[in-house]
Order: sequence, then structure tokens, then C-alpha cells
Amino acid sequence: MKTIQHWIDGAAAPVQGDTAPVFNPATGAEQARVALGGGAEVDAAVQAAARAFETWSESSVSQRTQVMFAFRQLLVEHEEELGRIISAEHGKTVDDARGEIVRGREVVEYACGLGDVLKGSFSDQVSRGVDVHNFRQPLGVVAGITPFNFPAMVPLWMHPIAIATGNTFVLKPSERDPSAAQFVAELYKKAGLPDGVFNVVHGGKDAVDAILGHSGIEAVSFVGSTPIARYVHEQATKAGKRVQALGGAKNHAVVLPDADLEFAANHITAGAYGSAGERCMAVSVAVAVGEAADSLVEILERKAREVRVGPGDAEGTEMGPLITESAVERVENGVATAAAQGATVLVDGRGLKVDNHENGFFTGPSLLDHVSAEMDAYKDELFGPVLAVVRVDTLDEAIALINANPYGNGTALFTDSGEAARRFQRGVKVGMIGVNVPVPVPMSYYSFGGWNDSLIGDSPVHGEEGVRFYTRPKVVTTRWPQPRQQTAAGFSFPTSH
Ligand code: NAD
Repeated sequence: MKTIQHWIDGAAAPVQGDTAPVFNPATGAEQARVALGGGAEVDAAVQAAARAFETWSESSVSQRTQVMFAFRQLLVEHEEELGRIISAEHGKTVDDARGEIVRGREVVEYACGLGDVLKGSFSDQVSRGVDVHNFRQPLGVVAGITPFNFPAMVPLWMHPIAIATGNTFVLKPSERDPSAAQFVAELYKKAGLPDGVFNVVHGGKDAVDAILGHSGIEAVSFVGSTPIARYVHEQATKAGKRVQALGGAKNHAVVLPDADLEFAANHITAGAYGSAGERCMAVSVAVAVGEAADSLVEILERKAREVRVGPGDAEGTEMGPLITESAVERVENGVATAAAQGATVLVDGRGLKVDNHENGFFTGPSLLDHVSAEMDAYKDELFGPVLAVVRVDTLDEAIALINANPYGNGTALFTDSGEAARRFQRGVKVGMIGVNVPVPVPMSYYSFGGWNDSLIGDSPVHGEEGVRFYTRPKVVTTRWPQPRQQTAAGFSFPTSH
């Protein structure tokens, strides 16, 4: 059986120590093993990255841009292949996996233009004969710790910007679907990236703890669940590192009575059950306002029953399996608890069996009506294909509901009213907002990140925020006096004159 190896200093590293199983979620079969790294592997990767930093940080902007251009082209050429690798380990459809590659590639495209973003400013004659300019420099070795649900895109939010700004990178991808990271490492090498600039250490908590405690790592980017985001933020901050830590979500889609209900239900269904609900921007709560409720629920029910569930690589599949057997258990228990707590289970996805894939990690789409804010199905991030409908009377009540929720990643409003949309986007305590757009994932030249428990600390990823995170500023004050011309050296604090 294949063992997925670490990638250190431009080559696959020999596997020493423990390994963990990697499953095919559609069949339930173990299809590979992955090396589980710890202190020794992280240290080897950091040492390689530190050596590479010496020269990479001195490379020109245009040299780095050329590598990014070549890398971007390779991502285009290998989109199908990488999509299939992701689908086989994650379970999402190949088309969906290609979608995440495209969205990740957009960050590479942004990184190709960083020469513009990295331009400093210059102030002429701030004092007599004195000018000031600023520029930004890379931090050094930086690390990324990423979740299973976007094995290509989430790391791509981080490493192209870190590398294009002159840093070197150690990635610790999810141990559940590790092959995409390996494939990306090989593409970087083909693109001409020097050895040691991009490294991959596989593993779980041991590898994460080794990263958080390593004095050679300047900054840590984390994306995953909120409890681990908190832990990573706390430990890395304590160790004096910069941290960006994105957490979990519970995303509400609000539907006003003036909305096109067929359109809204169509998009909410896709946003709730696409990728089996395993997206941090998945719609998990539909908030039906006033008289929209009955008709909306009727259409949602019809559409949930129409979702085609199957293996991710089969023609026509819209929704694949979940990542693990325990994820199926968690989601199905969530539906059972919702029923016990008084929700109406309109569509029950529990116990779904897919032909010829009886051991696959499948559960069907579930739709819950009459869910209230006190129920676990509303409070918990189930991270599966479960859509909960909460009924409220007014838009203000919907906004209050969203703002009382501890998460604040994404939200959407379906309406025909510009006034309502404006009130909504100004009023919600959420980082990413869609107006008639169910999954409002920002483009790479904007930042991505939620509010409250969806982002611990203060730094979202990519866009200019990403560039700021991976660089630090220098401000230079310059005087070029005429030869032998003396100016008074003041003993008081310098002021302009
Ligand atoms: P997770 O938190 O279990 O794992 C994330 C990373 O942390 C993985 O690399 C994992 O190996 C590591 N990890 C897990 N347990 C750990 C521990 N005890 N100590 C140290 N490290 C540990 O998340 P997941 O299940 O892989 O991904 C799903 C979660 O990620 C959901 O909560 C989802 O909302 C969230 N997510 C958020 C965003 C966002 O942008 N906010 C994007 C994608 C996913």
C-alpha cells in the first residue's frame, strides 16, 4: 500500500515512525497510509526552509513572479488530475474539486501581481533635505496548518502570497486527505521554485505542536475548527509568533417575502448540500422571514429530495460522501437530537445506502423545519448536509438572530429590496456577506475571514491583508547633505523644519 511521504528540501523524505490510514470515503476502504510527522520532521523542514530563505528572500520580485506564473500554468494543466486526487480522498465531486483549484489558483494570479502591491511610498522633503520612504520585507520561515475540507484551496490561500513576498513555507495539511499537498509540492518544483522554499510535513497534533513550539518559525496561518483555532492562536502567540487563525461557522441565509423564492431555494439547496455541507461557507441555516416561510420550505423540501448522492467521480453526482465514518455518526446524531428537541424532520438523510458503495461514508440531505435558537441543531456546527429552517417575523429579527450567534463567517440575504440589503450588510456582525449570492467567497484580491468565533485574532487571509501578514514594514529617513556642509545636530527630539 502506498505511503504518502513528507516533502522536505525539494524531495520526498523517507518515512520513519508511525503512519495513519487514508480512506476512500466513497467505498470506506483504506487506500493509502500517510506519514505522521513530529518534532524531528518539522525541524528538518524548518532547517531546509531557513537555508532556502537566505537566497529566496534575496531573489528579485520578477524572479518570484516568474515562478508564480509557471506554477499557475501547471495548475491549469493539471486541474483534472488534481481534482481527481482530491475527490478520491475527500469524497467531493471532481467538478467541485476543480472549483476549489480554480479559486485557489486565483490567489496565485494575485501573487503574480504582487510587484504592484509591494510598492512602497515616498515622501519628498519632509524636513529640509530629508526624505522618507518605506518598504516591506519577508518574515522568514512561516507555516500553514490546514483543514480537510479544501485540501488544495485553503493552503493556496496562504503559500503563494507567503512565497511571492520572499518567505519560505512549511505546510501541515490535514492527515485525512494529504495527497493534494504532495502534488502541489511537485508542481512548485516543476515551476522552478528552489528546493526548501515549500515543504510539507504530514501528521496531526504532534506535528502541529512541533510547529507551534519551533523557534525558527516566525508566523503561523491556521484554518480549521474554532477550538483548534483558539489553541493554535494561544500557543503560537505565547511563543511570540504572528498568527492568523480562521475557525468554524454557522452560516445563515435570510429569505425575505419579496425574494424570488424559487431562485432563493435553488441557491440555498446548492449552498447547503454542495460538498455535503463540508464547507466553512456552507449554508446551514435558512431564516425564513414572515410569509416567505411556508412556500420556501415547500420548495426546499422538493429540492432536497432531488439531490443526487453518489461517489464523487461518478457522472451526475451532486453530493458525495462525508470525510469519515465518525462524521456520518455526528451528523446523523445531530438530526436525531433535533427531532428529540422538537424540530420537524422534513427530509431525513439518515441511513442512506448508495448502490455498490454500501460501506461508503454516506448520509443523505436532511432538512429540518421549526428549528429554534436553543436547539443543538442550531448551535452546533454539524459540518454535514443538514439545513435547519428558523422562522422569524421581520428582517430585524433575522439580523438579531445572526448577531446573537457566536460565529460570524458568512451570511446571505435573498431579496428584491436594495434598502433591505443595505440595512442587512451594515447590520450583521459577519465578515463575508452575499446579496442573492448564497456562498459569498471573496475574490483573491479581497481578504477572506469571518468575525467573532469564526476568526481568532485579527488577521484574515489573502488580498492585501495576506501581504501585510507575511511581511513587515521598514521606514527609512534619509538625508544626503552636500559634501562638508554642516547642519546643526539638535539634542532635542527631532522635529521638521
Ligand atoms: P480541524 O480543526 O479538526 O483540523 C484542522 C487542522 O488542525 C488539521 O491540520 C488537523 O490535523 C489539526 N488538528 C486537529 N486536531 C488538533 C489538535 N487537537 N491539536 C492540534 N492540531 C489539531 O478541522 P477539520 O475537521 O479538518 O476541518 C473542518 C473545520 O474547519 C470546520 O470547523 C470548518 O468550518 C473549518 N473551516 C474553516 C474555514 C474558514 O475559512 N473559516 C475554512 C475551511 C474550514
